Amino acid sequence: MVTRYRGRFAPTPSGPLHAGSVVAALASWLDARAHGGTWVVRIEDTDTPRCVPGADHHILHQLDRLGLRSDEPVRWQSPSPSQDAYEAAWRALQAKGWAYGCACSRQDIERALARVGGLNTGQPAAAVYPGTCRTGLGGRTPRAWRVRVEGHWAWHDRRLGPQSQDLPREVGDFVIRRADGLWAYQLAVVVDDAAQCITDVVRGEDLADNTPRQQHLQRLLGLPLPRYLHTPLVWACDGQKLSKQTGAMAVDVDRPLSVLQAAAQVLQLQLPAAGGPKPVGSSPPDAAHHTPSLERWLEQATQAWAQRWLAVP
Ligand SMILES: [Zn+2]
Repeated sequence: MVTRYRGRFAPTPSGPLHAGSVVAALASWLDARAHGGTWVVRIEDTDTPRCVPGADHHILHQLDRLGLRSDEPVRWQSPSPSQDAYEAAWRALQAKGWAYGCACSRQDIERALARVGGLNTGQPAAAVYPGTCRTGLGGRTPRAWRVRVEGHWAWHDRRLGPQSQDLPREVGDFVIRRADGLWAYQLAVVVDDAAQCITDVVRGEDLADNTPRQQHLQRLLGLPLPRYLHTPLVWACDGQKLSKQTGAMAVDVDRPLSVLQAAAQVLQLQLPAAGGPKPVGSSPPDAAHHTPSLERWLEQATQAWAQRWLAVP
């Protein structure tokens, strides 16, 4: 049985698309087109404190101007059908004994880590949870909910090749329901990818190290594992990853071709130059600088993507 390709672009509406998010959007669109598949847009608005009112529609407008349109109605994570699905997954993980309540505050976790000599990965933002509440809460009230992790996780990325992560040492039991009651990104994304029958995830490399957590949840919930391709990031002048947090500029969709060409360059696609090859001596002077239409450019980019990636398993 052949599973039909289904890809997605899933932005968080915390601001408009910037040069980095356009790379991920274009790559996922091209991969879907090159495979003759379906491409859908999903607005990942579970993290409501990060969402900016109107940013979702701004993003959809930008995508439209770039010629990247969802093949199916756009899905939002916040309405109740999605929320019910996240709750069902959380309950299933509890019933199987994989999810447990955690009463620890951030300070509790830091203190516990200090006691064991800092089981830290060296990144201050990524303190590995020491498993304090794994064996019970001792009468305390749960704040968040975590899922147990185990084992060394090996996975394959179509661009980065073989990858691995020691989930207990590098990540630890991670949060699936936050202390503020919101569903964590990891749980929502896994449930949505399965609900939308996503076969291929193409997204920015900053999310690559999330993959083992998501595959762990997929396995525990008995969901299919998509293939993954993580795209290069766009770096700001100061060496920081370009992101909405670092104040990246919104792309100027009034010049869609130059936005797409910049993204194609990051993706190292071999494309004809903006003006296209000039026919020698045959063109009248005023027609010399012909600009391809958006549709034509996207066709050429799809061919270039297919040449680069279709043969890569
Ligand atoms: Zn805890």
